[in-house]
Amino acid sequence: MNKNVIAIDGHASTGKSTLAKRLAKRLGCLYMDTGYMFRVLAYLGLKGRYITQDSLDGTALMKEVGGLHFSWTETPKGLAMAFDGKVYGDEIRTEEVSSKVSQVAALKSIRDFLLQQQRALAQDHKVIMDGRDIGTVVFPEAQFKFFMTADAEIRAERRHQELLTKGMKSDFQTVLNNVIARDQQDASRSIAPLRKAEDAIEINTGHLTVEEVEQLMLQHLQ
Ligand code: C5P
Repeated sequence: MNKNVIAIDGHASTGKSTLAKRLAKRLGCLYMDTGYMFRVLAYLGLKGRYITQDSLDGTALMKEVGGLHFSWTETPKGLAMAFDGKVYGDEIRTEEVSSKVSQVAALKSIRDFLLQQQRALAQDHKVIMDGRDIGTVVFPEAQFKFFMTADAEIRAERRHQELLTKGMKSDFQTVLNNVIARDQQDASRSIAPLRKAEDAIEINTGHLTVEEVEQLMLQHLQ
């Protein structure tokens, strides 16, 4: 059993990262956003034109990023993950990146590359990791595992509001379509699909406040 890892998996926009951040602060752990890692690679793929509207050249993308790595770096907001020394922000949260990231995340070469880095970054730390396959593949022996879910409409509305609050462009229907499409792609891929680990605690966050979900999780952790 791995007592250093708390795994939070689940569907898109269920509040995983909000909860993971709060718990990490409260419990004095590092927060590892594994979706960030996939998003950074999707963003770089789009930027380098290895990903276009109708094509994805995973081999060329891997050639570009394969020699680089993620590392913990000090920022004014605390420790964050840098890729090749750079910390990414809202540029990886756009609809364009969201619409391509699940295709990138289905590639074996990309998953192998990130799996090894996720495990390395978690070594010698207490971490709360959020993602899709943490409790099933990355750390199946984690002592605590949560699986978050909620209705797609509720999740899309939350994400839509979050993007607007950040001053980013957003359209509810596009966000809803993306949330549904990503879940389908993530759950149906052959490698490390999105699914609840048998021993994970399932929480439906749809009609609960952040504080209520946090309390529920703390009860389990205690
Ligand atoms: O968590 P977030 O929604 O930012 O993740 C973006 C995408 O990255 C997911 O839709 C999924 O395709 C991929 N992902 C993954 N495995 C993880 C984390 C994220 O496949 N552990």
